[in-house]
Amino acid sequence: MSSLPFDVIEMVGQTMMKIAPVTIALAVVFTVLSHFWACNPGKPWWRKRELITDICYWFFVPVFARVFRIGLLVIGAGVLFKIHDADGLIAFYDNGHGPLSELPLWLQALLFLVASDFMLYWLHRMFHGDGLWKYHAIHHSSEELEWISAARFHPVNLFIGTILVDVILLMAGISPNIMLWVGPFTTFHSAFVHANLNWTLGPFKYALATPVFHRWHHTSLDEGGNTNFAGTFPVWDILFGTFRMPVNRLPDDYGVDDQSVPTEIGGQLAYPFRQ
Ligand SMILES: [Zn+2]
Ligand SMILES: [Zn+2]
Repeated sequence: MSSLPFDVIEMVGQTMMKIAPVTIALAVVFTVLSHFWACNPGKPWWRKRELITDICYWFFVPVFARVFRIGLLVIGAGVLFKIHDADGLIAFYDNGHGPLSELPLWLQALLFLVASDFMLYWLHRMFHGDGLWKYHAIHHSSEELEWISAARFHPVNLFIGTILVDVILLMAGISPNIMLWVGPFTTFHSAFVHANLNWTLGPFKYALATPVFHRWHHTSLDEGGNTNFAGTFPVWDILFGTFRMPVNRLPDDYGVDDQSVPTEIGGQLAYPFRQ
């Protein structure tokens, strides 16, 4: 008898147990910080209109991402490296492979962050184009942008985004052990850039994406949308001419110009397929 349903329940349970304490810690940190340094003073995050939608994504996205990342890694090793058995897969992904895995782990982590951010910059620009915008519009549908909005991504956007890029770099040989550092950093940083904070980090605004940098990205087209595509390093926007940080002004008024995006998760997941 197959124990698949139990394995799935166990996997979902494990993921939830990991997310819960992280969520509580982030909630405390950003409640305190946005009390003192709000970019757009007003309602606290727990009183935003689409809180339930964001909480659903917050818990659903890591489970989805985990299942699809493992699936793609298994398929990739089979197709490209002819590895089909469980022991072979474990050995192949245990500590990376080839020349990249010989580098010190901190350098592999840095390489991963820079290379993935470069690919994600261009994928992000693609998602702002005509064919893919309907999937990415879900991420932009938050009108009250908060740290908890960070996970609001359509699965198609996640799949041809973070998940694909992670898998490409792990297949190239980078050790999955870098995720011990990269994972917590990206979780914190993605919540940070969506947080309701007026932080620009002064001269470091060119080095690391900040809340003000990314909140400008979430404004409407005439306010300056279609700028600031970088996830982590604004250097890509500077290099390719899409950097925008108006001096002495803070972003306001977020959301999509197209008002037809539903506000609840079920409608949002179906939305691109109805267009
Ligand atoms: Zn975008
Ligand atoms: Zn965003």
